[in-house]
Parts: sequence; C-alpha cells; structure tokens
Amino acid sequence: MAYIELSQENFYHNLDELALKTGAKSKIAVVLKDNAYGHGLEEMAQMAAKYGIKEAVVADNDEALRIRELFNNILVLGDTPRVDERLSYAIPELESLRHIDPEVKVELKVDTGMHRNGISVGEVDEALNLITDRGIRLFGVMTHYRSADELTSEFFWQKKTFASVKSRVRQAGFDTVRFHSCNSAALLRSENFDEAIARVGIAIYGFDTLPEGFKKTDLRPVLSLWARRASRRTLRPGQRVGYGGEFTAPKTMKVSTYDLGYGDGWPRGDAQVPYVTEEGHKILGRVSMDYLSLEGEAEEVCIMRDAARAARYFRTIPYEMTTALQPTLSRRIRKERE
Ligand SMILES: *Cc1c(COP(=O)(O)O)cnc(C)c1O
Repeated sequence: MAYIELSQENFYHNLDELALKTGAKSKIAVVLKDNAYGHGLEEMAQMAAKYGIKEAVVADNDEALRIRELFNNILVLGDTPRVDERLSYAIPELESLRHIDPEVKVELKVDTGMHRNGISVGEVDEALNLITDRGIRLFGVMTHYRSADELTSEFFWQKKTFASVKSRVRQAGFDTVRFHSCNSAALLRSENFDEAIARVGIAIYGFDTLPEGFKKTDLRPVLSLWARRASRRTLRPGQRVGYGGEFTAPKTMKVSTYDLGYGDGWPRGDAQVPYVTEEGHKILGRVSMDYLSLEGEAEEVCIMRDAARAARYFRTIPYEMTTALQPTLSRRIRKERE
C-alpha cells in the first residue's frame, strides 16, 4: 500500500528553529487542523507532545478529543463550544457571547482586517461588557493576518490595530488574558516576538512561505509520499499506457504500475505536462483513481519529498498538496533522533 513517511528528525529540527523565533518551545502552538495538514493528526500530535509542545490548535471537537490528553490546552477554531478544562474556543461573533455557557474557555477573535471571521474592532467594548456582565471566562484574544506572507505594509497595519485592541482589553481589567496573532509567516518575519503563543501551521511541517526578500529560515519537509509497485510489464514501441493512452512508449521499455492515484489525494494533473519526482521518475500517461505508471521496476518509489516543489508543478500551495492526502494512507514515523 502507498504510504506517508513522517520524519521525526525534520519535525524536531523545524520546532528547534521555530523555538528560536518564539523564545521558548512552550510558546509554539502547533496547528494540527485538517488531519495535521494531511500529515496525520495523532502521529503529529504525539511527536509534538514528546518534544515538549504544550499547545495545539485544531479545526473541530472531533480532532480535539482525539488528542485531548497530549496538551495543556487545545484551541478549537470552528465548532460548538464545550465546557472542558483542556479546550478553548475561537469565538468569531458578538452574538455567540449572548448565549454561550460562561464556563467555556473563550478566545475572542477580533477581525483586524482579514474580514473572514471575528468581531469588528468597533465591537470590542461591547464584547468586553458582555463578557463582564455574564461572567464569561475570557481566556484569550486573538486575530489572524491576511497577508503576513506578502511584502506590503498591510501586515503592520493589522498589527497596529491589534495592539490597540490589546490595550483596550488590558484597560478593561482583563490582565490574565493571553494574546496571539501570529501564523507561520508572521512568526517567521518577526524579529521581536512578544505574545503568549504563536499558532504555527505550515512552518512546523517544513515550509517557509515567505517570498524572496525575507530572511530564509531553514525548514525541512516532514512528509514524504511513497507508492509501491502493483505490477510490471514490458512495453513495445508504440504501445500506450493508461486511460486515453496518453503516453506512447518510444522504445521497448519496462513500465510498472504503482498503488497511488487521485483517490488517495495525489492530483491527477495534466498528462501532457508530466510530473517528475525528485529522483527523476516521470509519471507516464494519466493518473487514475488508485494507480499511476512509471518507467522501471523499483519496488517502492518516493513520489514526493517536497510538497512545495510539487505545489509549484501543480500550480497550488504546499498546504493543498499535503491536506489533500487521504487519512486512509498509512503513516510511518521515521525516528532518527530520540
Ligand atoms: C490555519 C491557521 C493558522 C496557521 O496558519 P499557517 O499559515 O499554516 O501557519 C493560524 N491561525 C489560524 C486562525 C488558522 O486558521
């Protein structure tokens, strides 16, 4: 069966680099939403906890409960709040504060410019009043940047807006509240990180998404994708491979079929512009639901070592390359460093 290999060595290397940015590993909140960006939720959570990470971020309650015992706190970004000492909830609307159980650990999300989720800056005072009046447990105040990975002034403008929100929250007397705003790009470009935690996703998996012009951080892909040979054959010149017969053998050649396809989350792509693996294996013809073809007869082939490279080929982003990989692929952890 095709499988995903996770390099613990590379993961811990990335966390070492990121801890230099946050100042402490306790300030890294690993973002494990969407099955840990396709890497495998439990596997990534267990490795992170063993390394000493105390904070995680997930998409929903199901993900939170699967890894609940491993962290001090898990921030749930988008699900119905529950009262649980270990779970906090991003609250994106003023309206929710009127009905929420006051015992829920609330992380108020403020919209400082992305205009996706969050209460507006103009609603902050009303929100704080509601929180005080209803005795709601305000655990954190957060925001999210829309263009931390672009060389523009927008990031600074959002940062300044959030700074004004912070001082209002403090002035209102909430002095134990934690503040956080940084995703990977914001953390990687910051020189003087000073918040409680950074919510780091793509960077822990090994991708520095900052464009040219920023100082590069040495991050290494955690995930590699492997396929196994299902069958092999010798093609004569002129014989064609796969649906539509889009690849024609130019010579007598050995071709093998591997057990990975778009049903596993590998993109079907365009057979006319074939993807070539890092080791130089070119995909022959169309990718089908469960199979693809390569020249040669290797028993096992690494289809992708670097999702950022593959993303450039498929004109997408590394997030989509890895998140598309199905949970049904098995995950193996390679532990070079204990
Ligand atoms: C996904 C997400 C992150 C992590 O973003 P990366 O770019 O992967 O670091 C941080 N915060 C929120 C609110 C998110 O939804």
